[in-house]
Amino acid sequence: MFPPNFAAQFANIPTPFYYYDTALLRRSLAEVQKYAKKYDFTVHYALKANTNTEILEIVKEYGLGADCVSGGEVQKALDMGFAPDHVVFAGVGKSDQEIDMAIDADIFGFNCESPQELEVINEIAQKKGKKARVALRLNPNVEAETHKYITTGLNENKFGINLEDLEGVLELIKKSSNLHFIGIHFHIGSQITNLENFKSLAQKVNTIQEIFDTHGLFIEHLNLGGGLGINYQNPDSEPVAPFESYFSLFDQHITRRRGQQIHFEIGRAIVGQCGSLITRVLYMKQGSSKTFVIVDAGITELIRPALYQAHHHIENLSSPSTETAVYDIVGPVCESSDSFGKNRVLPITQRGDFLAIRSAGAYGEVMSSFYNLRPKAKAYYVA
Ligand SMILES: *Cc1c(COP(=O)(O)O)cnc(C)c1O
Repeated sequence: MFPPNFAAQFANIPTPFYYYDTALLRRSLAEVQKYAKKYDFTVHYALKANTNTEILEIVKEYGLGADCVSGGEVQKALDMGFAPDHVVFAGVGKSDQEIDMAIDADIFGFNCESPQELEVINEIAQKKGKKARVALRLNPNVEAETHKYITTGLNENKFGINLEDLEGVLELIKKSSNLHFIGIHFHIGSQITNLENFKSLAQKVNTIQEIFDTHGLFIEHLNLGGGLGINYQNPDSEPVAPFESYFSLFDQHITRRRGQQIHFEIGRAIVGQCGSLITRVLYMKQGSSKTFVIVDAGITELIRPALYQAHHHIENLSSPSTETAVYDIVGPVCESSDSFGKNRVLPITQRGDFLAIRSAGAYGEVMSSFYNLRPKAKAYYVA
């Protein structure tokens, strides 16, 4: 991930910055496509994990489609040259303008999350004399065993159409002349590491498909979402996510209909491990019971620890020390939640050292902010 002379090589570069290992990104993409092809699955990259042009360029090279959750992402995918028929638009609150633009662009389809959204898409398509391709995002009420803020497939979550409403929605689709029903969509959450949860999803999907059979509706596209987790505790032990087990589990447990296409939309597992946030130690500060390492990166560059109590592995790239100490690593922003790790064991650390906050490739840079009027951190790409 880092060359041995990293500290010397980056000595004059302002910190904090994002560091992307594009060779690792390529390894992940090659692995994803290898196993997706093995089972004849189609993968769309979930843009929201990382929308950097340099990253998208590489993702596109490997032939993935684009899974978008805003008009801005749809536009970015189209601008980047993703084929419109490989662009999917999901999200619980699509605006009229966003729908309008996506219909004009002739994207592959909308993943719809409420009856009213279907009515609005039908109306907008009607005005244009077009048919919009729609899939239904269903809430399967399946546990994901992840942080509650990134669980999406339970009845209490805002996402998807609840199964009790399905009959009504199918009637609505049948009478909406400007909607073309193409399939169903699920996404139960993110950072899912217990694959048993995906098995529960597959089983639930099998029973849901039977409801469609009774309506004589063919599910041409079965979209099983994303959510595959990565190893934040020990990134070097698992630099590439377990795509083989993930896909083979679905292959084993999904009852696939003849002629049916199966889609996945993966974000974190593709880009998470290739990125690190590099920061310099500004100050060492002895508290009454703790030693604080105050660094120049904060929640403005990586909000996951503050937002989801997420763990990121931290290493010192400068210290030659074989002695270690226990530190709390904190940022400069005026919030107590601006902390990257408590009670972390690092080699003896001092002012000026480079620290790498690992696994920051997904939901890192995209969630950055200007809070405290902090400037945007740059990104560097290393092959
Ligand atoms: C965020 C999101 C994804 C990607 O989730 P990952 O955990 O990053 O794989 C896929 N589909 C939808 C609808 C999403 O909102």
